[in-house]
Amino acid sequence: MHFVDLHAQQQRIAEELRRRIDVVLAHGQYIMGPEVAEFEAELTRFSGAGHCVSCASGTDALHLILLALEIGPGDAVLTSPFTFMATAEVIGLVGATPVFIDVEPDTYNLDARALAEVLGDMAAGRPPSPGTPAGLRPAAILPVDLYGLPANYPRIQAVADEYGVPVIADAAQSFGAEIDGRRVGTHALATATSFFPAKPLGCYGDGGAILTDDGALAEVLRSLRVHGRGDHKYHTVRLGMNSRLDTLQAGILLAKLEIFADELEARQKVADTYTRALSGLVQVPAVPASMRSAWAQYAAMVPNRDGLRREMSARGIPTMDYYPIPLHRQPVLEDLGYAEGSLAVAEDLSQRALCLPMHPYLSEADQTRVIEGMTTAIAEGAR
Ligand SMILES: *Cc1c(COP(=O)(O)O)cnc(C)c1O
Repeated sequence: MHFVDLHAQQQRIAEELRRRIDVVLAHGQYIMGPEVAEFEAELTRFSGAGHCVSCASGTDALHLILLALEIGPGDAVLTSPFTFMATAEVIGLVGATPVFIDVEPDTYNLDARALAEVLGDMAAGRPPSPGTPAGLRPAAILPVDLYGLPANYPRIQAVADEYGVPVIADAAQSFGAEIDGRRVGTHALATATSFFPAKPLGCYGDGGAILTDDGALAEVLRSLRVHGRGDHKYHTVRLGMNSRLDTLQAGILLAKLEIFADELEARQKVADTYTRALSGLVQVPAVPASMRSAWAQYAAMVPNRDGLRREMSARGIPTMDYYPIPLHRQPVLEDLGYAEGSLAVAEDLSQRALCLPMHPYLSEADQTRVIEGMTTAIAEGAR
């Protein structure tokens, strides 16, 4: 059994993948070839966002947004501690300071009430942690759509508007998800997503994109991804990066996008089956009625996680523990002085999160094996 099965998908679209790759090999425009613009157009159509700027990775997508908003030293970016390191890494790389906001125990995403408290504290001159420099300007709020479920953007935006702070989305795991029938890419000033192979829409290498309705911002991002270019290639108006989506990857993504909506449905079915079978046994992921998850991961909160992982592994069932150390407790950020227990929900979830095999091609037999494995191992106390 595979945790993520890219091979089954590859077999399904083998011909179209081969055709797309052959077209690129024939025209030879490996950098910014026609597939890149075609893919960007398809992505705006799929997401409903006004503009799409593709780039070299999800990490770069976040980095480019921070550069475009001219966020740097003296600025705070408020984000979730229960995420992959890339979310906070880019904040530090532009010289800004990450400020961590605890998450909701049921959705695992940034808690709008905790956000309002921290913004209130900062406005009153109270630092969010002992090591956070005084007098930082809240420059952006960066919620993360963990495991594919969108953060509560309507509520977060309401808090953000009170303080006049822009919201940018880390949707690396949630491309294809929805709130109120509108897809990810339309719920924040700018949305970063990733095409890392294991993400819901993944390529065969690194890739990413930014979605926005702000045309002026999109223009700045297009300049930043090619070294800050101005009117022509050797005219530079800002310091930028080399961060383009490869033409080959765009071609591969075009082939995959054709079946992506169908794959989202298949993921939803697997999630429904898990939730029906496991809800009396462990804490299953909550999905608010207004939302649809992209189900990048199916994360249950379990007791005795390490024992359970061992028992599952002994039965040939792969599991993952995304993410065992919340970012505010990472050694690289220890200068911020967040003590143990300072963000109690994120710390608790990071000890209990168990991700089960999740992909659109997981057979019913394998789903049953996962469920039986969980049921038996928990009944036996997962020694
Ligand atoms: C994967 C991921 C990223 C980074 O994406 P890459 O394409 O691997 O650079 C950022 N944030 C989150 C939450 C992710 O899961």
